[in-house]
Amino acid sequence: MAAALHAANEGASVALIEADDKLGGSTALSGGVYYAAGTSVQRERGIDDDTPDAMFEYYMTLNQYRVEASLARKLCDHAAEKLEWLKTLGVNFPAESLYSSGVESIPRGHAAHGRGAEIAEVLDREVSKNNIDVVLGSRLEELVIDPDGRVTGVRVGGDVITSHAVILATGGFGANPYYLNQYYPDAAEQHDKAWYIGSPHCQGDGLQLGQEAGADIVGYNRGILLTTPDFKKELEVFVPGWLTYVNREGRRFINEMAEYAVMSGVIKAQTGGSCFAIFDEEARRTAKPNKQYEDAFAAGIISLNWIADEIDAQIKTGKVIQADTLEGLETKCGIRPGSLTATYDKYNRDIKSGEDSMFFKDHNEMKPVETAPFYAVEILPAIICLTSTGLRINSQTQVLDERGQPIRGLYAAGETTGNVLGERYIGGGNSITNAIVFGAIAGVEATKEARRNS
Ligand SMILES: Cc1cc2nc3c(=O)[nH]c(=O)nc-3n(C[C@H](O)[C@H](O)[C@H](O)COP(=O)(O)OP(=O)(O)OC[C@H]3O[C@@H](n4cnc5c(N)ncnc54)[C@H](O)[C@@H]3O)c2cc1C
Repeated sequence: MAAALHAANEGASVALIEADDKLGGSTALSGGVYYAAGTSVQRERGIDDDTPDAMFEYYMTLNQYRVEASLARKLCDHAAEKLEWLKTLGVNFPAESLYSSGVESIPRGHAAHGRGAEIAEVLDREVSKNNIDVVLGSRLEELVIDPDGRVTGVRVGGDVITSHAVILATGGFGANPYYLNQYYPDAAEQHDKAWYIGSPHCQGDGLQLGQEAGADIVGYNRGILLTTPDFKKELEVFVPGWLTYVNREGRRFINEMAEYAVMSGVIKAQTGGSCFAIFDEEARRTAKPNKQYEDAFAAGIISLNWIADEIDAQIKTGKVIQADTLEGLETKCGIRPGSLTATYDKYNRDIKSGEDSMFFKDHNEMKPVETAPFYAVEILPAIICLTSTGLRINSQTQVLDERGQPIRGLYAAGETTGNVLGERYIGGGNSITNAIVFGAIAGVEATKEARRNS
């Protein structure tokens, strides 16, 4: 939609082809967090010293420079401008909802009031106000490619639509098990424990269509996996602070309330690629959800994993492992013998002293692990939120072939591309900013090419 609107604004004649019977894709299902530096929303909160330069430095450093600087630069330079564009169209990014959605010291996560649905609805409304032909319920299956390799249109159903340029913005491939096996083994290896929370229409068609035109695929094994205790298909991104996480060495390794942008990568890096949530009888008995969910849970709008009834039910299934001693848990979970007592002696001492001396978790959220029986639950990075293996583009969003040459007439933006998002998700909002910023660039650049060719 961002691409179509920018192309239309440049004077192009645009057809927007959508597989679903409505526009919005995974964006509409998302949290609606947008990542940007130097915005009016930040200034409203009194933050007037953040810049695209600082965001770029953070982007590159977090990714240890293993990400294409030209694309990161474009993303950082245009993120604020496109946030202002969304605001002008009517998306509400309240200043009080601005937060640090990664590990940055300056808050850059701009949460849309009505989550991703609001962003999608506002864009959809804008599309309908413009002269854009929207074709719903039509899955694009083939590109028309002329003998010298130029993309000259698309085939939808039995019809050919000719065009001077095509932009692929088909999202990720979380709904395609074959592509998960091929490109995202960290997700595929979770087998039946893995589940996808994005649009079922996001099957990686952009990768296949691009490849048919000779596109290079990059960003192997990248994406975001959210964590789950595998109780049921319940997305609970923020866990309560009374949970503690230990690895198989019996050590804590992270603030259990850390942002999801970093959590699954750190869990994945532990021996065995998972960890155990450990708590005691008192915590089970008084289990309360993370504050972010309290109201919705009390109002009956959502159900949750980390509540006493659910834990009790999962004790019966064996997914919550119970033992009378910490040593007993070590044996049942395959955790290094003798490690947990030392870990929880320290943790319980930290609670008394009022500071999590290792990981700085909010000490008001911590509960001692001292009353038998003790419980452990394996935590898996298995909920597929987004994929980021995809088409290789340049900073004009032209799709590149394996020699790094642009495929004439072919552009791509968003989750279908593979070299904007790096190994590290820089924070909530990285992906929507990618879709909007590069969608906008694609709309402008594709129109320029269409004009040259017409
Ligand atoms: C639950 C959830 C929460 C998230 N929260 C956030 C967040 O807060 N912030 C953030 O930055 N990211 C978030 N993400 C990730 C983010 O939403 C997506 O990565 C991003 O919105 C992708 O945008 P896109 O335009 O590339 O793809 P989409 O929004 O998925 O759009 C792709 C569209 O292409 C259509 N399509 C696919 N194949 C074809 C075809 N062959 N022919 C025609 N149409 C086709 C699809 O139906 C879909 O409408 C979240 C994801 C999920 C699932």
